[in-house]
Amino acid sequence: MNIIVCIKQVPDTSEVKIDPVTKTLIREGVPSIINPEDKNALEEAIRIRERYGGKVTVITMGPQQAEEALREALAMGADEAYLLSDKAFAGADTCATAKTLATMIKKLEYDLVFCGRQAIDGDTAQVGPQLAEQLGIPQVTYVKEIKIEGNSLIVKRTLEDGYEVIKVKMPVLLTATKELNTPRYPSIKGIFEAYREKEVKIVTASELGIDPQEVGLKGSPTRVIATTTPETERAGEIFTGNVKECVQNLVQRLVEKHLI
Ligand SMILES: Cc1cc2nc3c(=O)[nH]c(=O)nc-3n(C[C@H](O)[C@H](O)[C@H](O)COP(=O)(O)OP(=O)(O)OC[C@H]3O[C@@H](n4cnc5c(N)ncnc54)[C@H](O)[C@@H]3O)c2cc1C
Repeated sequence: MNIIVCIKQVPDTSEVKIDPVTKTLIREGVPSIINPEDKNALEEAIRIRERYGGKVTVITMGPQQAEEALREALAMGADEAYLLSDKAFAGADTCATAKTLATMIKKLEYDLVFCGRQAIDGDTAQVGPQLAEQLGIPQVTYVKEIKIEGNSLIVKRTLEDGYEVIKVKMPVLLTATKELNTPRYPSIKGIFEAYREKEVKIVTASELGIDPQEVGLKGSPTRVIATTTPETERAGEIFTGNVKECVQNLVQRLVEKHLI
């Protein structure tokens, strides 16, 4: 079975702090990691390969330093790695990212394409579904369990209040949640192989055969026009009076803020 896993290198947002004076994000010294749910996708792909054979290919679109994420994926057990890196790809929104990834994936053989549910920096959860559309294959998002039955998959998809069981034929795109598994640590042998024997293939826009006008910032229908840090310090409010008045005041405030 040939499995492609799309991974994104992200800043570890659990380490990002807000400067109390300037109210801006402190990014200095924040480590870059593989997006957590992409690791769940990768772990599942490696487990399937270990059981059924085949190949796991990891792909990322990002700057040169994203190679580090691919090396880590190779150390965990991926077989092949592609880094889509070109100035033309920079500033991509989800649509341009999906288009770039799809152009690469169409050149490869695959039964299964895996993404994480959502990246912890962009936070949109759009790339997986848009990629499935671009590839013209079915998709199941929020996957928490997978069983293979011939050339079909039986997957459990998380819902707000439970889950649904879906049978889907391959090729298919899945987006992984953290409930799917516990990702392994790379072994020492895996780390040696990842740096000494395995290769990260770097692919540019011209090698992909993609029009630079259709990707990156130029190919993005959306634009981020401003980013601001949310106000973190809010004054608390203490209601006085008897219990009934306090509850009425509280409910009124919550309604005003559209919270209930
Ligand atoms: C030169 C360059 C610089 C970039 N700089 C930034 C940056 O500063 N900040 C930023 O957020 N993005 C950056 N990107 C990447 C790109 O803009 C985002 O990947 C894209 O907008 C994805 O949106 P999202 O984070 O909301 O993903 P989501 O839709 O939340 O991601 C869902 C899943 O899609 C897959 N996926 C998402 N993005 C990628 C990717 N790039 N490669 C492989 N798989 C992916 C992962 O499996 C992920 O779990 C850069 C790209 C390039 C080429």
